[in-house]
Amino acid sequence: MATLELKNLQAQVAETGEEILRGVDLEVNNGEIHALMGPNGSGKSTTAKVIAGHPAYEVTGGSVRLTLSEADVADIDVDIDEADLTWDLLDLEPNERAALGIFLAFQYPAEIEGVTMVNFLRQALNAKLDEREELFEDEDEEGADAEDDSGYDTSPMEGPADDGDVGVAEFQQLLKEKMELLDMDEKFAERYLNAGFSGGEKKQNEVLQAAILEPSIAVLDEIDSGLDIDRLQDVSEGINALRDEQGTGILQITHYQRILDYVEPDHVHVMLDGKIAKSGGAELAEELEDEGYDWVREEVYEAA
Ligand code: ADP
Ligand code: MG
Ligand code: MG
Repeated sequence: MATLELKNLQAQVAETGEEILRGVDLEVNNGEIHALMGPNGSGKSTTAKVIAGHPAYEVTGGSVRLTLSEADVADIDVDIDEADLTWDLLDLEPNERAALGIFLAFQYPAEIEGVTMVNFLRQALNAKLDEREELFEDEDEEGADAEDDSGYDTSPMEGPADDGDVGVAEFQQLLKEKMELLDMDEKFAERYLNAGFSGGEKKQNEVLQAAILEPSIAVLDEIDSGLDIDRLQDVSEGINALRDEQGTGILQITHYQRILDYVEPDHVHVMLDGKIAKSGGAELAEELEDEGYDWVREEVYEAA
């Protein structure tokens, strides 16, 4: 059980001080699908980026916390106090947040040449696992330091850098399972990064990344944009598999209701002017489809 909780989250553009998020409240548990909807410019992508720790934004108030259960940290060797299961994500670097189980798709750096998807994904997984180990070891040492002020570091030398990594053969097996889960063609992973992926293939890569990294919570920002109906269905089935087979919680950001016909949300939230203006069940998305966002705005202003 993992819970991502945003409380009264406020953020501005770091460079200009322009206020974008004005108190966002949101709670996503693993295994749940939440749709975050709203008109262009309402702050949906900013919410995603602030959760991930994007440096373009400065948080000016509120909190972003991730609470894990013991089952979520069963892979970690060090002893973990219960108090260490709740993390203030705002204190952590983006890669540390990812290591704890928050997923926001990364862009492939344009300059990488001659690297296949399979190698890139394996590196990404190993980077996450290494970061994860370090994060919990650091936490453990902090606790130990408090009781030990002998003043010098008694920790053993680090092992070889690839200690505990997922090797090539093991990764091939993992990848095969994940591609079956997502009903993807195995040849896909043998392709080179940036070698002319179509828009739809990029979106499928995003789902594959999430399948490999097995996050507790995945934030998918407009993964439905620009997809034809066949590809939309493939991507949607992949998202459902992440939830059903891996228990991933999904924060699905979308401007349009269309993908929600295939990925049925448990909760729907409407964002307006940097706040969640209204939340409801799947029926709310249908209302929005029929009637647009104006009535939500009217409701909010009448209430104010
Ligand atoms: P959405 O994803 O809902 O369309 P965004 O979160 O992308 O909205 O943007 C919300 C508002 O914040 C928009 O008015 C946008 O122009 C502004 N904004 C977001 N990021 C930046 C940035 N890095 N610099 C300047 N303005 C930004
Ligand atoms: Mg956006
Ligand atoms: Mg401790």
